[in-house]
Amino acid sequence: MARLQIMDTTIRDGQQSLWATRMQLGDMLPILPKMDKVGYWAIEAWGGATFDSCLRFLDENPWERLRSIKANTPNTPLAMLSRGQNLVGYKHYSRDIVFHFIQCAHRNGIEVFRVFDALNDIRNVVDNAEAIKECGAHFEGAISYTISPVHTLDSFLEYGQQLKELGADSIAIKDMAGMLTPYRTERMVKAFNAEIGLPVHIHCHYVGGMAPANIIKAAEAGAAIADTAHAPLAFGNSHPAVEMIVAAFQESRYDTGLDLNLLFEISEYWEDIRKRNHYKRGVSSLTHMKVYSHQVPGGMMSNLMSQLEVQKASDRLPEVMAEIPKVRAEVGYPPLVTPLSQIVGTQAVFNVLTGKRWSVISKEMKDYICGFYGKAPGRMDPAIVAKVTGDAEMLDPDIAPGSLVTTTYEQVAEEIGDLAHSEEDVLMYALFPNEARTYLSKHRTSEKVDFLLEQESSGTKEDDYVDINQIRELVKVAEESGVGEIVVEEEGVRIAVRMPGESAAAPVAAPAVAAAPAAVAAPAPEAAPAAAEAQRPASWYAVEAPMVGTYYEAPAPGEAPFVKVGDEVAAGETLCIVEAMKLMNEITAEEMGTVREVCLDDATPVEFGTVLFYIEPHEKATSVPEQA
Ligand code: MN
Repeated sequence: MARLQIMDTTIRDGQQSLWATRMQLGDMLPILPKMDKVGYWAIEAWGGATFDSCLRFLDENPWERLRSIKANTPNTPLAMLSRGQNLVGYKHYSRDIVFHFIQCAHRNGIEVFRVFDALNDIRNVVDNAEAIKECGAHFEGAISYTISPVHTLDSFLEYGQQLKELGADSIAIKDMAGMLTPYRTERMVKAFNAEIGLPVHIHCHYVGGMAPANIIKAAEAGAAIADTAHAPLAFGNSHPAVEMIVAAFQESRYDTGLDLNLLFEISEYWEDIRKRNHYKRGVSSLTHMKVYSHQVPGGMMSNLMSQLEVQKASDRLPEVMAEIPKVRAEVGYPPLVTPLSQIVGTQAVFNVLTGKRWSVISKEMKDYICGFYGKAPGRMDPAIVAKVTGDAEMLDPDIAPGSLVTTTYEQVAEEIGDLAHSEEDVLMYALFPNEARTYLSKHRTSEKVDFLLEQESSGTKEDDYVDINQIRELVKVAEESGVGEIVVEEEGVRIAVRMPGESAAAPVAAPAVAAAPAAVAAPAPEAAPAAAEAQRPASWYAVEAPMVGTYYEAPAPGEAPFVKVGDEVAAGETLCIVEAMKLMNEITAEEMGTVREVCLDDATPVEFGTVLFYIEPHEKATSVPEQA
């Protein structure tokens, strides 16, 4: 009875942790029948970032992916990861959408639903739980494990009890950052067995290498299931290799009973795929190891590194790492897991890059502080709360944040209209409106395709994908120059953009664009006519973009711009949004004044320092006391 069961995470968390979620359906299909023979407790196959990635990067229908995986694994339950009220997205969806999504996922092949909330706020899990129970599927309640003064064993047990009351069939201890240690694991699993009494499923990212020891201690303490990945997608930010865990328990009472030779055969396949795509293997560097000190999850770290690279500030990483714990403490110690890892990490980046702590704040951070993501685990710094919220309203703590979203399935279905042909299509649109519209237009109604995209990837680097906005910029350039097609070749990726109505023949190479599409996208404020420069009074001040991103004049498409020329603005008033790192960052006026120039068109990409507005300050305006 003590036999430890194994859930394989190779095609979901494994590839999400190491391959930036770029594994394609074609990569997995050939090996699925063999994986189906292993006897895993389940295969984690879907959810998390895979849904988003299918639409955003892979031009794949996530529902078709799920059905295809299920068709090839008839004997093994499929599991998915749901982010509670956020499902597989990054914001709260209504109860109605949650119910439709869960039912649809179940119908398409998901039998085990692992549900977590980044803040361990049970209110964000209730709708998922009820929908899962209604389907008769397995509800696994996950605890987001983290370390902080407010995350005690008792606090985790209390949350476990709440999950049990919602009907959880098992409890997952989700150690996304690889911060669990063997003896903490032992204590935790024992306590959960004694006080909650549900099967415990242990999910430890490898990161600094402690995970195998944790799994051994967990099994000894009575855990029922452990997560692993096949060796080529194991280690580093991923999970321990299934081969090592299976071998470790042989000749013990916890013997998994899995056939090591079959596992190696499967891993040979994955190693081929890895090599063919030049994907990284999991490694544990010193920086990874330091998670025991800085507590920053590995996935978050690679995110930060690429954010800093975009901002041309890679050398500031150590400062950002030092800033993260400060920000986290100031906002009540949220566990650093999606979406809070992005929100906290980005705030730390802003605090460091602007040199003025909390001078640029993302809308998401403001929403979090106001309580719209759920209840913060600990107390927030009142000075920060006051500075960030200003006159914004805090959410009444008795109101569940998810209940504020009331968009019904019917409303969404009406909005997308004929473009959607199924419940799956509608849900795709409910979760990722822009990406789904692009996908559905492209694949259903050819007359709506405004350009053709060909991508021939020789797979030379990990992020062989095409940013659709980048393509749109290329189309603009092509239209202006009157060419029918442009071809961009960059490090082995060939992108051909053909204008509507043009035939495939005679592509015109555009070498000027080829090397750096970003340069095409960037506006050139410094190229503004010198005459205008001369006419501008010296007293006007420029509001500059504090980061690389995209400028938006209004809170949402179709809405009125925040400001126009001639508007009076108060200090701290929002002027526009610069979207960067997937977050919407409000840019505010430094002092009271009149908007004299709006420099950019809506949705223009901006560089660090691009001038957005010129404002004439009012004479009586005095400088605002700096609270940093
Ligand atoms: Mn994970």
